[in-house]
Amino acid sequence: MKGAIRALMLLAAVMGCQYQPAEDSAAVAEDGLKVFISVDMEGIAGVITGNEVSSSGSEYQYFRELTTMEASAAVEGALAAGATEVVVRDGHGAKNNIIPHLLHREAKLLRGVTDRPENMMLGLDETFDAVIFIGYHAKAGTEEGILAHTSSGNVIDLSVNGVSFPEAGYNAVIAGLHDVPVALVAGDNWICEQVTDLFGEVVTVETKVGMNVAALGLHPEVVREMIRDSTEAALRDLSRFEPYRMEPPYTMVLKVRREGELYPGAEKTGEGEFTFTSTDFLEVMNAFNAMK
Ligand SMILES: [Zn+2]
Repeated sequence: MKGAIRALMLLAAVMGCQYQPAEDSAAVAEDGLKVFISVDMEGIAGVITGNEVSSSGSEYQYFRELTTMEASAAVEGALAAGATEVVVRDGHGAKNNIIPHLLHREAKLLRGVTDRPENMMLGLDETFDAVIFIGYHAKAGTEEGILAHTSSGNVIDLSVNGVSFPEAGYNAVIAGLHDVPVALVAGDNWICEQVTDLFGEVVTVETKVGMNVAALGLHPEVVREMIRDSTEAALRDLSRFEPYRMEPPYTMVLKVRREGELYPGAEKTGEGEFTFTSTDFLEVMNAFNAMK
């Protein structure tokens, strides 16, 4: 939709007239929403152990199927809300978890690891209208959170400008750089609480109640219905959501268990503690990825 408005403005500029958005503009009406869905695995219905989300685990094949079906439920909701383009970013581990032929056929799938700082948000740009997070989990140190961590098991805490982030937090900043809001997050109750604190207006779908290594969960089919319906409702009311932004410069404080090599420009500010400042958020992500 953003793209269509921009194209019309360009056309108007070329024709030497002023672009006036018209309610009944056929071009705008025909061009639907563009939705980006970033998918992790720890927050998927039923998941409780690392064995279920690691490719060598005996339960992995089953849970990657559930992951694919949860992503498909979000795609279905997006299409019901009028999306005409949906990109699903496989965001967990080696980023090859979603089973391509089981994913909703209207979605494009972005899989595979790169060393680009966008990581779980790779493929997002300013032409998208909304971001959805599926299968997300709470940040490192969340005692009752299911498989709670922040990107790697080595991270104790990551904060930027004094705000402690789960993965959903810095991924939302990346979306904010492109003026795209996060409309919905699905995962355990702890990540739902953390994103509500961070973003304010965001729809959450609680797939399970985390009790450290145990979880009280809903049936996967019920979770998928909730994701489908909540995604549709959220996207039909998109003006509620604001892109999540932070004022530059960005100062990261990273606390780790085992210290690695210092990223150029980073400073060691304590035992296992590093700070790094940049006006470029993606450069902060590069520093984080190098030292996490
Ligand atoms: Zn993950």
